[in-house]
Parts: sequence; structure tokens; C-alpha cells
Amino acid sequence: MSRLISICILFIGCSNSAFAQTGMLEGLLSDKRSTRGFSENATVSLPDLNIGAISDANGHFVILNVPSGVHKVKVECIGYRDTTIAQVSILAGKTTPLNINFPVGCHFLNQKGRRCPYCHREDAAIPLVYGLPDAKTLRMAKRQKVQLSGCMTTGCDPQWYCKRDNKEF
Ligand SMILES: [Zn+2]
Repeated sequence: MSRLISICILFIGCSNSAFAQTGMLEGLLSDKRSTRGFSENATVSLPDLNIGAISDANGHFVILNVPSGVHKVKVECIGYRDTTIAQVSILAGKTTPLNINFPVGCHFLNQKGRRCPYCHREDAAIPLVYGLPDAKTLRMAKRQKVQLSGCMTTGCDPQWYCKRDNKEF
């Protein structure tokens, strides 16, 4: 009987120490400009450990049983640029809070109007068009009224094309 009890104690002791070597990562995805969380489901992962979680509609995420130590955290969502936090410290038995700026700001969104940042003129800039062009768009593209830009968008895409500089902005 006493042997059985000591085996039980040993077992509990082991499982406790195993638990104590992991921590929890909990946080919020939110854009700097917004007070609300990121509403689409993003994958928050620790790629080196192959663990992760999906954020909810409020941008909240929880990753359980993260081994203690310093890890890289990556946020991915289709249509947005990935963001990576190089070093996040996880302490055993503790919850590490981590608020992540996501999606990351896009410099193309700062572009106001058609003024070209290279030649500083407006007369050579035409809008970029994404997606499959219809007949009218194709005619406009032929007359260089718009520039076709393919179907791939990343969430951070240029809106204008300068014919003089052959650059997008
Ligand atoms: Zn230009």
C-alpha cells in the first residue's frame, strides 16, 4: 500500500514539473489605427515549434503549452502581409501577454491622389486595375487610360502607375 502511494506521488510530481516547463501565450491582433481587434481569422504560430492557434473575430488568440524560452511568433492571414515578432519570451507556468500590430500598415495607403512620388507630376499617372478586366477596361488599357496589374493582391498594393517613370505607387 505504501509503495502504491509513493508511486502515485512520484507520478504527480513528474506531471507537475512537465507542466511547469510550459507557459501560455495570449494576445490581441489589432491595427494601430483601430481600437478594435482584427476581425478575420489569422494564424498565430511559433513556426520553430510547429504550434499555433487561430485568432477569433475579436482578434484574440491563445496558445497553450508553449515550451518556456524565447521564440519567434508569426501572424499570417490570406490577403495580408505576414508579420513576425522575432523574440517573445515565454515563462514557465505564466501567461505572456502579446499584443500584435496586425495587419501592418501599408505605405501605399499613404498615397493621396495621382501625384507621382518620383517625378512629382500628376499628368502621367493612371490608375492600376486588379482582377480580370472586362471589355471596357481592356479598351481603356489599350489607350493607356488604366494599367492592368494582374489578379494577385496582397493587401498592400499600389494604386497608380506613372507612365513617365514606369513605376507603380
Ligand atoms: Zn512619375
